[in-house]
Amino acid sequence: MIAARPPEGDHTAAEGGGTPSFAARSPEGVHTAAEGGGAPASLVQLNNLSKHFTVAATLTQRLLGMLGHAKPPATVQAVSNLSVEIRAGEVLGLVGESGCGKSTLARMVAGVHAASSGTALYRGQPVAVQQGARVVKTTTKVQMIFQDPYASLNPRHRIDRIVGEGPFTHGLVDKANLDDHVSRAMQRAGIDPAYRFRYPHQFSGGQRQRIGIARALGMQPEFLVCDEAVAALDVSLQAQVLNLFMQLRADHNLTYLFVSHDLGVVKHISDRVAVMYLGRLVELAPAAEIFTRPNHPYTQALLANMLTLNLRRRRFSAIKGEIPSPLNPPAGCHFHPRCPHAMERCMREVPAFRELAPGHSSACHLGDD
Ligand code: SF4
Repeated sequence: MIAARPPEGDHTAAEGGGTPSFAARSPEGVHTAAEGGGAPASLVQLNNLSKHFTVAATLTQRLLGMLGHAKPPATVQAVSNLSVEIRAGEVLGLVGESGCGKSTLARMVAGVHAASSGTALYRGQPVAVQQGARVVKTTTKVQMIFQDPYASLNPRHRIDRIVGEGPFTHGLVDKANLDDHVSRAMQRAGIDPAYRFRYPHQFSGGQRQRIGIARALGMQPEFLVCDEAVAALDVSLQAQVLNLFMQLRADHNLTYLFVSHDLGVVKHISDRVAVMYLGRLVELAPAAEIFTRPNHPYTQALLANMLTLNLRRRRFSAIKGEIPSPLNPPAGCHFHPRCPHAMERCMREVPAFRELAPGHSSACHLGDD
């Protein structure tokens, strides 16, 4: 189990490079991608996934358009041609600075957003399909847990409805068994089922996040997409909720995509880690490898500036220089304006995402023949 983090100001082994006060990532009995015994089957496949958003025209632009001086609408390329597979039973951590596209990616993986191009497949089938303006999920086995446990719960609904509505609507449980189903989901999430007739505002932040987890568990998921799922909680509650995630993994063999800006959390719960920069995947490797032998200069910079546990509450600002606007990303390697190793080639040529060692891939011209 993951121990509660020390009070602020305490120095931990993690800061000194020794064994941190977190427990091992893989609970006993859980077979993970990082372990031996052959590669586990791929559960989720992202193939050349891209998402762009068109920026709404300003009043001035609309007026210019009416006068015949229209310009093409600006486009934000939030995610670009991203491909990765997520193996059954593993925790894939996804890290990067704010604005790098990791939340947009998480939402496409969870079927909340439709992809602009490419596919997000769960067990070989699209997670969601576009029907007119609507995005319709095709599976209940993929569920998402959001950052803000209050905003993601309808304040006018009682907990029994919040947790039970999805399973009942999708025919996972009939009316006669709905109450038991809700109670079981709440118990698994560590919430007393006696509270099921209360409203979200009657719970603390940590309890509300557990309610969000209970809602996801009610859908009997195999794959959980957690988008900054502990970022809004204080330090001790973070540890409790992370313990719960790992216990659920052990009990139900769940697979996770765990999105976080908190490298300390990602380090200790992930089997593999993916690093994103300005919409692109720049490095992917087993967690132990990423944190000891990072290849990409961006990953190296992230780790060099990794916040120590007692500074965790500070605003995350990992690397000198601003992340460029996704409205106008730099040509070539997006990281070149901030990269201490940038070469002329980096400014014009997009580096290929290539395998350096089994399971370890990076997108950087350094080391190219
Ligand atoms: Fe730096 Fe060039 Fe590598 Fe990009 S490709 S990370 S700019 S060295």
